[in-house]
Amino acid sequence: MQVIVHRGTRQIGGVATQISSASARILIDMGEVLPSEDSSAQAQLSVPGVTDNTASCDSVLFTHYHADHIGLLPHIRADIPIYMGALTKDILLHTLPYQEPVLRRRVEQARTFSPGQMFTIGDLKITPFCVDHSACDSYMFLIEAEGKRLLHTGDFRCHGFRGKAMAKLIRRLGQVDALITEGTALSRPFTPPLTESALQRQVRGYIKQYKYVFVLCASTNLERICALSKAVPRGKYFVCDAYQQRLLDLLQKHWGAYSPLYRHIKKTIYSPRLFDRLREKGFVMAVRDNQSFRNIIRRFDPARQIILYSMWEGYLRQPQSTLPAFLALAPHWEPLHTSGHASAQEIAQLVTALCPKAVIVIHTQKPQALQTLCPQTKVVLLQDKEPLFV
Ligand SMILES: [Zn+2]
Ligand SMILES: [Zn+2]
Repeated sequence: MQVIVHRGTRQIGGVATQISSASARILIDMGEVLPSEDSSAQAQLSVPGVTDNTASCDSVLFTHYHADHIGLLPHIRADIPIYMGALTKDILLHTLPYQEPVLRRRVEQARTFSPGQMFTIGDLKITPFCVDHSACDSYMFLIEAEGKRLLHTGDFRCHGFRGKAMAKLIRRLGQVDALITEGTALSRPFTPPLTESALQRQVRGYIKQYKYVFVLCASTNLERICALSKAVPRGKYFVCDAYQQRLLDLLQKHWGAYSPLYRHIKKTIYSPRLFDRLREKGFVMAVRDNQSFRNIIRRFDPARQIILYSMWEGYLRQPQSTLPAFLALAPHWEPLHTSGHASAQEIAQLVTALCPKAVIVIHTQKPQALQTLCPQTKVVLLQDKEPLFV
């Protein structure tokens, strides 16, 4: 098999990885560059046969719904089949603006795969495995062809609620010939990540201290939203809006059978007629940076409220970010976040367990750090668009 990372060998966002055999060629992800890494020269990405007619491409597979993996979907040639998880498809259809009918149709036509169920594209045998990440329908792909086994991790971690499943998955995977792993954390300080369970305990502490707890969180970080709801004690409310409710219902529909975390989410949809009851009882409310939530926050007693900032801290530093002004709506705000990505140690453990003959690190600014962490392993430091045979 041949691997070409079209983008992502030296940056986090905007990944696109090509995997091909002698007779089939697929692309995994076609992402947008992160705003923090953006430059005009970087915004576009051309992939032969995917964004033009100069070659053929059999399919594009998406690991999950984050924009740095799926954002350039509109640039993919219309005749190329696309694949994604079933919840990812439903979430995209719910979140895509109706002003984008062409894109909506494209997503409506997307094929879906099921966790653990192998499917084939030409002679490539592809098995998707659902993994722990801050997008709750994220997949690793095991790709087998020409006598070789290659694992593409997508974004993953081991410190979320699904993290314990990773050890079982590693045992099931056995040895692989090549590993393409995300390496986001390699450029960050090597500190043990806070678990999502620890974060949930922190929320319980804030609920004891403050009557009105607003949590600023991505609406699609559904696992965290479920954990917030489950942290609310009897007699208080978990409040969200109808948009968030629909996303939680989609999560329960697709994954409710797999974990009690995802089902029977106690939620109240905010309405002005509930104001007196909410004011009297207290609540945790999942909020987003928009005018409706700004108006709601202003209605409650500032002395008894806090905003918990439950997103990546880098968003606060971006030029023109409106988030600092949003956080200033309450007299207090505190960070409440943990990374959606595997720590350097978790990546090293995966490498050690799978014993790959070659490792390629993508979705990272510092691929060379893996060589230091795993001195016994061959870490191939590819450039974007440089081919490698595995
Ligand atoms: Zn992601
Ligand atoms: Zn990502």
